Amino acid sequence: MRPQIASRSLGLLQRPTKLSWNIGRRAIQTASSSRIPNFAFAFDIDGVLLRASKPIPGAADSLALLKKQGIPFILLTNGGGKHETERVAEISEKLNVSLDASDIVQSHSPFAELVKGPDETSALEHKCVLVAGGDGDNCRRVAEQYGFKNVVTPGDIFMANPSIWPFSKNFSEYYKTFARPLPKPVDPTDPTKGLKIDAVFVFNDPRDWGLDAQVIMDLLLSRGGHVGTLSEKNGRSDLPNHGYQQDSQPHLYFSNPDLYWAAAYPLPRLGQGGFREALEGVWAATTGGPSKGIELKKTVIGKPCQGTYEFAERQLLRNRAKNFKGVSDLPPLEHVYMVGDNPESDILGANSYRSGNGSKWQSILVRTGVYPGGEPAWTPTTIADDVQKGVQWALQTSKWSS
Ligand SMILES: [Mg+2]
Repeated sequence: MRPQIASRSLGLLQRPTKLSWNIGRRAIQTASSSRIPNFAFAFDIDGVLLRASKPIPGAADSLALLKKQGIPFILLTNGGGKHETERVAEISEKLNVSLDASDIVQSHSPFAELVKGPDETSALEHKCVLVAGGDGDNCRRVAEQYGFKNVVTPGDIFMANPSIWPFSKNFSEYYKTFARPLPKPVDPTDPTKGLKIDAVFVFNDPRDWGLDAQVIMDLLLSRGGHVGTLSEKNGRSDLPNHGYQQDSQPHLYFSNPDLYWAAAYPLPRLGQGGFREALEGVWAATTGGPSKGIELKKTVIGKPCQGTYEFAERQLLRNRAKNFKGVSDLPPLEHVYMVGDNPESDILGANSYRSGNGSKWQSILVRTGVYPGGEPAWTPTTIADDVQKGVQWALQTSKWSS
C-alpha cells in the first residue's frame, strides 16, 4: 500500500529548496526546484510530436517547458528498427531538446530485459536467437546492443541454405550485403547437432514475408528449435495443444501489434500485425488452428499491450528516481498522461493499463495525427487540438502552475 500523501490532490508537493542541490543531471534548475511533480507524461511520436518527420507546432515548446519545470516524460512509440540512441538523436535534433536513450521506449525496447531474463536459466544472453524484420540487419545490431551475444537472421539461414525458401533467390544480392555465417550449420544428416534457435523475435516489420514466415513456421514445428527437424509430437491429440509447441520449440515474440500503419501512400499499409495475421493463417491451415482447439502460443508487445506500458512505467520510475536523486522521500508517481493520436493503440493502452505501482494513466487524444475526428473507437480522458493544448490541460488538471 502506498503511503497517503496529504497534498496529493494538489498534484505537487512542496519541497525545501535546499534539496534541489543534489538531484542529479536532469535536475530542476529553476525557481520550480522547490516542487516535485507527482505526475509524468508519455508521448507517442508520430502524429503527436512529429508528422512526416517534421515537428508539429508546439511540440518542441511543450517538451522544453517540461524539461525546464523538471516534469518527467517518456516517448512511447510502436516504431523501431533502430537503436534507442540513434532514434533519440534524430528526435533531439528535430525538436531541439536533449534526450537520453532512456527517454524513449520503442516497440522492441522491452526485449532488452530478456537478455538477462528474470533468472539465469531463462536468460537469453548467450542463447541463439532469431531476429526477423527491419532493413538489412539493423535489428540484429540493435539486439546486439541490447546484449544478445548470438543473433541469427532469416537472411543468414537463407544464404547458407538457399533451398530453405527458393523464392528468395531473387533477393540474394540484398541478403549478401549483411548475411553472416551461421554459428552452426544446418545439418540434414544429423540436425540435432546443427543450428538450434532458442527464441524468435519479430523485431520490426518483415521485409521478406515469405522467407520469414517459412523460417518461423519451421522453427515452430521443429524438435526443440533445431533447424531442419520436425517434432514427432505435432498433431498428437493426447497432448496439450495437440502436441504443437510442446517440444521445447523457441518462444515467439512480436514487438508491434499494429495491423496497419500510416505511410506516404494515400491508404494505410499493412504493418507487423498484418504479418502476424498471415502467419496465424498459415499456422491454422497447417495445424487445424482454433477450430480444432489449437493455438499459436506467442507473446505480443507494443501499444496497447499491458507489458509495454509496464515497461514504460518502470523506465519512467527509474528516470524519475535519477532526476530526483538525493530526495530521500520522493513522493509516488500518481498520474501519467499518455498523449497520442491513435485511439486503437495510445488511448486503448492507457485506458486499459493497470499499474502495479499505483499510478493512474489518463489519455489525451490529439487531432494532429491519424484520429479523423468524431467519436473515437476508444474514449480518451480528453481530446486536445494538439500536444501543446494537451500538455496545458494536464498541467491544469494536476494544478501545476508553470
Ligand atoms: Mg501516432
